Amino acid sequence: MTVSHSNRAHALLGASSAYRWLACPASARLEETFPETTTAYAEEGTRAHELAQQYLENFINGGEDNIMLFSREEQIVLKELEPYTDFIIEKWNGIRSQHPEANIFFEQKLDFSQYVPDGFGTGDVLIIYDDVMEVIDLKFGKGVKVDAYNNPQLRLYGLGAYLAFGDIYDFTKVIVTIHQPRLDHVSSEELSVDELLDWAENSVKPTAELAYNGEGGYHPGDHCRFCKAAAVCRARAEANLALAKMEFRSADILDDEEIAEVLTKASELAKWAEAIEAYALKEAIAGREFPGFKIVEGRSVRAITDPEAAVKILVENGTPEAMLYERKMLTLTAMEKVVGKKSFTELLKDLIEKKPGKPALVPASDKRPAFVPASIDFADVVVDDE
Ligand code: SF4
Repeated sequence: MTVSHSNRAHALLGASSAYRWLACPASARLEETFPETTTAYAEEGTRAHELAQQYLENFINGGEDNIMLFSREEQIVLKELEPYTDFIIEKWNGIRSQHPEANIFFEQKLDFSQYVPDGFGTGDVLIIYDDVMEVIDLKFGKGVKVDAYNNPQLRLYGLGAYLAFGDIYDFTKVIVTIHQPRLDHVSSEELSVDELLDWAENSVKPTAELAYNGEGGYHPGDHCRFCKAAAVCRARAEANLALAKMEFRSADILDDEEIAEVLTKASELAKWAEAIEAYALKEAIAGREFPGFKIVEGRSVRAITDPEAAVKILVENGTPEAMLYERKMLTLTAMEKVVGKKSFTELLKDLIEKKPGKPALVPASDKRPAFVPASIDFADVVVDDE
C-alpha cells in the first residue's frame, strides 16, 4: 500500500521512534501525554520526500529526466536531493540489467504489528530482485550522520517489508540503506531473513509488549534527546543530578582525571539544562509561573520597515545608490544548492579546497581517528561530544 508522506501517521511504537522506546520502554506511554508537535525541519523533510518520490516515479516509469515539470523552488530542493535520486536510479538500472524481473516500490506502508503492537512505518524505496529485498530510507536532514548498522528503525522497515512481500517473493537476504544526500552519507546493513526474524522475535517483541503496556521502566541515555518528555522526565533529572554529584579531592586545583570526569558529565548536563530552559520559557510565555523567575524582553533590534522607500529617500537626499547595496557571492553551500551537487563538484573541482577543521576534544570512543597536534592553534579549541 502506498502512503502519502504528509499523511504518515505516528504510531505509539513506530519505527522512527524505535531507538528510544526499545531503550526506554516506558517512554512510549509517557510521550502520549505530550501534544503532537512539528518543526520547520520536519516539514522540509516531508516536502523533500514527496518531491523525491514524484521525481523518481516519473523518471523510472517515464524513462527520462522530468525536472522541468517542477517549479523553480521545487527544482532547488530536487538539486539537493540529486545524490539520492541518482543513487536510486543508478541502483535500479544496475539491478534491472542483471534481473529484468526486479520490482521497485515507493512509499510503502510497512506493517510489523505481528511483532510490535500497532507498529508500522513507511519505506521510501523497496527493491526486490533475485533473493534480495532492499529497503532504502531517505534522510533529508543535515545535522547528524546516521549509521544503518544495528539501526532499529531500518530493521523494522526490513521486517515490515518481509511481512508484506515474503509470501510473494522468495528472498533470503535483506539490505537496509540510509541515504543522506545533504551529508554525502550512505550506510547499509545486510542481514539474512533468519537474523532479522530472530532479532524481531527475541529483542523487539518482548520489549514492545512492555512498552505498549507502559511497563519496562525508564532508562535515561542518549536516546532521551528524541523524547518529548526530555525536559521534565524525573528519571532523566535524577540520573543527571546523580551525575553532577562529583567527589573532588582536597587539592587546590583539579587533576587530569577530575577534568576528564567533568568533561564526561558536562555535555549530558548541558543538553539537559538546555532542554529544561527551552521548555520552561515556552511554558512561562504561555502563562505558567516558576518560583523566582520572570519573563523579560530580549535585546530589541532596529529594522527598516520599507527598504525600497528608505533607499529612495536616501538617494533623493544625496547618497549614491551604489553605496547602499553590497554585491555578495553566495556561500559555497547556497551555490551548490542552486547549481546542483554533481555539476558544482564537476565544474569547480579545481577551485575547492577543504581546510582541516578546528581541533575538538571528544570522548575516546568517538569513531574519528585521533588528531596529532603538531602545529595547531589551540586558541580556537572547542569541546564537543560528537
Ligand atoms: S526522557 Fe529519557 S528516560 Fe525519560 S522517558 Fe524519555 S527516554 Fe525515557
